[in-house]
Amino acid sequence: MRILIVEDEPKTGNYLVKGLREAGFVADLAANGEDGLHLALEHQYDLVVLDVMLPLLDGWTVLRRLRERKNVPVLFLTARDEVNDRVKGLELGADDYLVKPFAFAELLARIRTLLRRGAVRESEMIQIADLEINILKRRVTRGGTRIDLTPKEFSLLHLLASRPAEVLSRSLIASQVWDMNFDSDTNVVDVAVRRLRAKVDEPFSLRLIHTVRGMGYVLEDRGG
Ligand code: CA
Repeated sequence: MRILIVEDEPKTGNYLVKGLREAGFVADLAANGEDGLHLALEHQYDLVVLDVMLPLLDGWTVLRRLRERKNVPVLFLTARDEVNDRVKGLELGADDYLVKPFAFAELLARIRTLLRRGAVRESEMIQIADLEINILKRRVTRGGTRIDLTPKEFSLLHLLASRPAEVLSRSLIASQVWDMNFDSDTNVVDVAVRRLRAKVDEPFSLRLIHTVRGMGYVLEDRGG
């Protein structure tokens, strides 16, 4: 897990970096808003700890510009416990905040919570071409058009989409979606795939679910 600290006070910054490294994280430090924004955009961080009062670019500007391009969790540090600051930070897309001075243990706890939440959020959506699957809401759209699926159809699509470009055998699909462990009933799978295609593929120009003769099915964007 890699964390970026954007903090201009050297004592605080170094203290945070040291503490996070001791806690097992990879931690980088940026001492002004411009460097912070640059690092956050150029590298893959799992979380950004962002001070608000920063030279060159303030934390709000960093946050706003970061949010135009990235969804990385952001925890901001504010020196004043003012409702306006908290509201502003959260409205700009921050995920949490801490008021200075804070205990390092508290920062660590907040970071761990955000990282857990971040991981869930990542896997909440699957997107392949114009197909979007919201796992938690069990909502499927293509090009913004809502597609209504039965629970089994949803499970089948979810399975295929969570292993894109991987050929899944009928027996594997049967065991995962229907809990069946024998090959004789796998024509259930063919029927279900046909129904799923009628909803997810046929009304649209780009086919995503492909049959691999003698092997099974694969969901992938083959273009065209
Ligand atoms: Ca500062």
